[in-house]
Amino acid sequence: MCRSLPTLTVKEIARHVNLSLLGSKYYSGMQLKRQRGTLNLILQKNHQKRHLAEGAVMGEKIRKDSAEWKQQLTQNQYFVTRQKGTEPPFTGEYDDTETQGTYKCVCCGQPLFRSDTKFHSGSGWPSFYAPASEEAVESEADTSHGMRRTEVKCSRCDAHLGHVFDDGPQPTGMRYCINSVALELEED
Ligand SMILES: [Zn+2]
Repeated sequence: MCRSLPTLTVKEIARHVNLSLLGSKYYSGMQLKRQRGTLNLILQKNHQKRHLAEGAVMGEKIRKDSAEWKQQLTQNQYFVTRQKGTEPPFTGEYDDTETQGTYKCVCCGQPLFRSDTKFHSGSGWPSFYAPASEEAVESEADTSHGMRRTEVKCSRCDAHLGHVFDDGPQPTGMRYCINSVALELEED
């Protein structure tokens, strides 16, 4: 999947690195030729770094069978995240929390929500108007229990987190209604 960068000619390097210096007296053609190996190395490294960074953001899906999840999670965590359960309202650890920090997935540790998007919805579940990043969560149509809702899942391990509704506050107008038990708050 990761395509390695071919070794570049001097001209190509000039195109990749925005070196206005290239034409200046500081970089004669000879100097550039001498440095071509070093520049190629730097470009290759940057290329690899970018791929690593993309990999870290996109991530590989984490897949475990139910026995493994059961071993790792408490009964409540398992019920909510792996069996699409819902904790009773006003019972969760983070319903009222205003502590600054990052809410991570209880199953895989991926950052999901930030405290600065949390608001008091009165629903009895922790509510956020946006995820920590666009890639952090995935949503899916959910027609269970005779309702038309949009399920919210962790994009990395498919943990069921809760649902998203369009009656939230600005700036997004969205309300991510999330089970406390699916989250773990890492304080700032
Ligand atoms: Zn997860």
